[in-house]
Amino acid sequence: MSNLYGNLSAERAKRREARIRQRLQERDQREAAIMARIPRLREIKEEMAALGLQLARRALGLPAADAEELLARGQALAREREELLRQHGIDPAELEVQWDCPDCQDTGWIQPRVEPGQDVAPPPRKCHCLLQEEIADLYRISGLTQPMREQTFDRFDLTVYPPEDRPYMAEILRQCQEFARAVAAGEKVAHNLILMGGVGLGKTFLATAIANAVVQHHRVAVYFTFPELADVLRRQRFEDDEGGRWGMQLLLESDLLVLDDLGAEKPSDFVAEQLFNVLNHRINRQLPWVVSTNLSLPELGEIYGDRIFSRLVGLSEVLLLRGNDVRLVLRERRLSRK
Ligand SMILES: [Zn+2]
Repeated sequence: MSNLYGNLSAERAKRREARIRQRLQERDQREAAIMARIPRLREIKEEMAALGLQLARRALGLPAADAEELLARGQALAREREELLRQHGIDPAELEVQWDCPDCQDTGWIQPRVEPGQDVAPPPRKCHCLLQEEIADLYRISGLTQPMREQTFDRFDLTVYPPEDRPYMAEILRQCQEFARAVAAGEKVAHNLILMGGVGLGKTFLATAIANAVVQHHRVAVYFTFPELADVLRRQRFEDDEGGRWGMQLLLESDLLVLDDLGAEKPSDFVAEQLFNVLNHRINRQLPWVVSTNLSLPELGEIYGDRIFSRLVGLSEVLLLRGNDVRLVLRERRLSRK
């Protein structure tokens, strides 16, 4: 695991600590306001604390009041408090901490109970709220826009392709799903993917569906268009700002890099050199990528040069998409429905 995960989880822990502090503070403020209205409640609280101390002394074998008497006194105080709150129309929950997630009290972790017969407590497990937060964090850094997050394999519509191309495209879909499954499972994949074909054949859809599947499995997938990639490389080199450093870390260490729409514009020598370094770095660490392009293989070689071409294509499975322009088909369908 890269230290991307460490950074993210440290950030989350910090956020949660701050939130817990805030929730505790809010409770104390509510309590102080209620006690200002009903001063007897403060006395009850102090008496209960004193009882607790007596019980603790007993537990340590020190001289203290009789246990039954202490418990009876405690129950009487609790009843009195309840009655006072009721008389003033105050919900007892006001005196409790209002956790965002009552299941884990916002810690993110749940300690399973020790079952009878078990001598060791089972290890704590992640709460559903933490799992959700992890996915939200992964999406936040993924570069996937909201509409892209909707582009999942189960929404890939084969019927927009001409009937004769559907079996072929179904096979392309299957290969993309298998690739996504392997990356999501943390397996070392044998090759990267290049999605190749004309405009509007569903390249971006498939590339983002792969990224979505990886994120849904709690792994880091990042989506870059070529101009975004060039911008990160430039910022990291010439401005060395936080955005550039962070972007570079994502380019180098993410579990999956999606580079969408590798275009016909020739990259500058600097960008080409840096792209070469990024690809090499990922190859050495067996970190896969998906590249989509509407260029042909000879065009890729011509525009990006032999060194990048051999890294990019030599270690990739090239999937050539077929069909009509999907966007045109969808637009025609919408029009014919009116
Ligand atoms: Zn929780």
